[in-house]
Amino acid sequence: MAIRLSKVVSPNTGYAFEVAKGEYVRVQGTTIVDFVAFNRHNLRERFDQARSKANQGKIFISTGDQLISKFNNTMMTIVEDTFTEGHHDLQEGMCSRRRYELVAARGDLSETYKRPIKPDEIPDHGCWENLSSALEPWGIAPEDIPSPFNLFQNMTIDPVTGKMEHTTIRPKPGAYVLFKAEMDLLAAFSACPDFIVGGKEVIVFVETERLIG
Ligand SMILES: [Zn+2]
Repeated sequence: MAIRLSKVVSPNTGYAFEVAKGEYVRVQGTTIVDFVAFNRHNLRERFDQARSKANQGKIFISTGDQLISKFNNTMMTIVEDTFTEGHHDLQEGMCSRRRYELVAARGDLSETYKRPIKPDEIPDHGCWENLSSALEPWGIAPEDIPSPFNLFQNMTIDPVTGKMEHTTIRPKPGAYVLFKAEMDLLAAFSACPDFIVGGKEVIVFVETERLIG
């Protein structure tokens, strides 16, 4: 069977799953998806934002690029990316209740998330809590979750000042990123509460062979 696993993940929840080397992971959504990966045989070996950027000499990655681990091994290759409206993010960490409280305390919610937001609208949890819950059965402590590959999180980055800003750009329905696992993995992601779209479900497929694209 080509689709080994499919799962609809509710808005502002997380999901973790095991993937075998050579399998494909298709993540489909219209919201930000905070995606992380671990070596299934050594859960201390994790996805690394910095190596993924430095090894490939760029801060945006897409089709043909790789997710690199702290030990400088290739974890996954992006074999297809249909988010053509913008870039995925490799700068930011994870949203969380604490993060939202800090932005609210600064009075910057609307400026940061690009629409009018009242302090009582902030969610009681975010991607940090979602990934922590999803990975807990594997014994991974919250502080050991790496900063993610933030799918569909289009940021503008000023090349001179480095100032980063969220944007309202999100993929059209049906958009996906297709990864090939280059090692046996534990993967996990959070369907971000994402103020821009108000939180949407995310669908993941694990395919034993490449089906489309
Ligand atoms: Zn989030």
